Amino acid sequence: TPASAPADTVPDAAPFGITITHPDRVIYPKSGTTKGELAAYYAQLAAPMLQWLADRPVSLVRCPQGRGKQCFFQKHDSGAFGDKVDHVAIREKKGGVEDYLVVNDEVGLLTCVQMNTIEFHGWGARASDVEHPDRMIFDLDPEEGLDFAEVRRAAVQLRDLLGEMGLASFAMASGGKGVHVVVPLDATADWPAVKDFASRFARAVAEAHPKRFTANMRKIERRNRIFLDWLRNERGATAVLPYSARARDAATVAAPITWAELDVLSDARPFTIADAARLIDRAGSRDLSDWGIARQQLPAL
Ligand code: ATP
Ligand code: MN
Ligand code: MN
Repeated sequence: TPASAPADTVPDAAPFGITITHPDRVIYPKSGTTKGELAAYYAQLAAPMLQWLADRPVSLVRCPQGRGKQCFFQKHDSGAFGDKVDHVAIREKKGGVEDYLVVNDEVGLLTCVQMNTIEFHGWGARASDVEHPDRMIFDLDPEEGLDFAEVRRAAVQLRDLLGEMGLASFAMASGGKGVHVVVPLDATADWPAVKDFASRFARAVAEAHPKRFTANMRKIERRNRIFLDWLRNERGATAVLPYSARARDAATVAAPITWAELDVLSDARPFTIADAARLIDRAGSRDLSDWGIARQQLPAL
């Protein structure tokens, strides 16, 4: 009888056959957002999300007690995720081999959510070719309090500088403070080549525009500037994936946007998981259907 079911298990809390336990548990204290709502968001966004998530080593931000409490960044799996999530063995820099998680389908995605994952971060390379990045990312990290108009201008300037070198790039609102400028690559160059390009490009931009950018990660160097974080582009580094929810105050989302939208964006948090329907429509819209897609190689610097 229904009366014997656990009070916090609702019938629709098994998207793609994965039972979400404690769906009524509030995981975002400020907005009152529940684990069940997060699971429903990921179930709805599965298709556009998997376009970026599948076949990629991922790290997870897991928050077993919700986002207000201790969260941890999980890079490896020693078996806790079972066989509903795929794995790829990767040689570590410091020696040895570790199993990384790979989420290839809806079942894997919802299994991670059931395991209290809020954020999905991906390598810049495919699981099937981990030594050759298929994207480069410039992560614009503004100093606390900097006017977002500065972030907008900085992202557009980066797009233009990359464009002068023949590189198409795409903007993503991080769901936090900044914008990511994403440069798809054809996966012909290896990590050392991409890291070298990213670091030299970032340093050159910071040198040419010292009032706007710094390429030095030290917080003290920021002083009203934007840290042009090129460190996402080394082997083993990750960046938050498109359509991932964020473990921030509100259940904001990392969202691909058009350059025209960036022009009028007032912060890096235009969407939350409550916007699932709109995000699905957008992902399939003409303006965004080719977002993040370009077959291109790094030019000589
Ligand atoms: P924001 O716009 O607020 O900066 P962001 O996603 O760019 O949002 P950053 O702090 O710039 O946030 O994060 C850079 C990246 O570092 C993250 O996207 C993530 O992939 C990685 N990262 C986050 N936490 C850890 C961690 N504990 N250990 C290693 N890497 C992490
Ligand atoms: Mn950032
Ligand atoms: Mn950063």
